[in-house]
Amino acid sequence: MRLILLGPPGAGKGTQAVYLSELLSIPAISTGDILRAEVKAGSELGLTAKRYMESGGLVPDDTIIDMMRSRLADQECAGGFLLDGFPRTVTQARALASLVTIDKVLALEIPKEVIISRLGARRSCPECKAVYHLEHQPPQEEGKCDGCSTDLIIRADDAPETIRSRLEAYEYQTSPLLEFYSSTGNLVRIDGDRSIAAIKADLAKLVG
Ligand code: AMP
Repeated sequence: MRLILLGPPGAGKGTQAVYLSELLSIPAISTGDILRAEVKAGSELGLTAKRYMESGGLVPDDTIIDMMRSRLADQECAGGFLLDGFPRTVTQARALASLVTIDKVLALEIPKEVIISRLGARRSCPECKAVYHLEHQPPQEEGKCDGCSTDLIIRADDAPETIRSRLEAYEYQTSPLLEFYSSTGNLVRIDGDRSIAAIKADLAKLVG
């Protein structure tokens, strides 16, 4: 299965990506996680990406497409994959279409007010990538990841000013992908403003 998880920041892509990856035994590839690792390592790619990420804007298409072209050619992707956070522009989607055929595009949809509240209360595990919400999905021990006990962090780009720019980037650059993929016929829209369990159940049916 070659899947794309589409949706605005805070739609629950990261949480559902971990779930689907385990369910289907395919790698979940998050461009955001790859870029954050590059920033942490201080690589050339990380230095380029950092300023875009900090401002809440998108990293240039050429950089992302080159990065993903080599990633998708990896042996680990041979049996399928799930993309989280890529493509994010129509240019990226066209480049992806020239590399592989996508089976399904799963679009998580949530209202803007819900996104803002979710991102403001989000806590992330930098180690295993688990995602928590202070109110709706708190960790068992305050500030610690349930799975690996790592200290949870607030992502730098979850600051209120940056959230606004990320939402704009989604609206103007990424949401046209809904149209793009509905014309290719493999788009499935999912109401993301429900419990994690209800969404998981829907996704399991869709990919089962
Ligand atoms: P995410 O973790 O998916 O929310 O991504 C965090 C940040 O990484 C985004 O706000 C962008 O700056 C950058 N980024 C991630 N994926 C892409 C992409 N496909 N195209 C451009 N920038 C990206």
